[in-house]
Amino acid sequence: MNIILLGPPGAGKGTQAQRLQADLGMVQLSTGDMLRAAVASGSELGKQAKGLMDAGQLVPDALIVGLIKDRIAQPDCAKGFILDGFPRTEAQAVALDKMLAEGGLKLDRVVEMEVDEKALTERVVGRFTCAKCGTGYHDSFKRPKVDGVCDVCGSKDFTRRKDDNAETMKTRMTAYRAQTEPLLPYYRARGVLKTVDGMAAMDEVYRQIRAVLAGA
Ligand code: AMP
Repeated sequence: MNIILLGPPGAGKGTQAQRLQADLGMVQLSTGDMLRAAVASGSELGKQAKGLMDAGQLVPDALIVGLIKDRIAQPDCAKGFILDGFPRTEAQAVALDKMLAEGGLKLDRVVEMEVDEKALTERVVGRFTCAKCGTGYHDSFKRPKVDGVCDVCGSKDFTRRKDDNAETMKTRMTAYRAQTEPLLPYYRARGVLKTVDGMAAMDEVYRQIRAVLAGA
């Protein structure tokens, strides 16, 4: 099964994608994570993307489409994939349709994570990640069981994203409204769009997503 998780920054796409990956063996394809890895490695792509990401703006479609096209062609994606953070523009959605058709692949579901915009900045500004295993945490909503120690791997090293601040969130939300939200009618018209309540507790959001996928 191949799906898209669609929603604004802070909707919980990454958290839910990680859980689907662990339980169903689907592969999480996060364009944000791929770009952050490119920035960290100092690659040409990373250099081109860094300034835009730090400012909360989208990177050019051609860069992202190339990244996803290469990734989808890798053998592990045959198990099914979860697109997290892609597509974000209509041009990316059209490019996705084309690459799926060329690969003989199908898009089974687009899951919209519906959230109250007012909650998003608090969610985003408080989040941090284990630098070693990538487990996500939050200052208010999901602290490690022992302060400063990752529950999963025991590492004491955590990172915060540079773009997870209130100022950059304004730009990211503007980009979402202008460029990504129009994808909702795009996918609704194809009959693949389902909506879950992204404001519910994490376990309940996950339950709703699994219910939506069971019906696919
Ligand atoms: P995310 O981790 O999904 O919040 O993405 C972080 C940043 O990476 C975004 O603010 C954009 O600058 C960039 N980015 C990630 N995915 C895309 C995409 N599909 N199209 C354009 N830019 C993207």
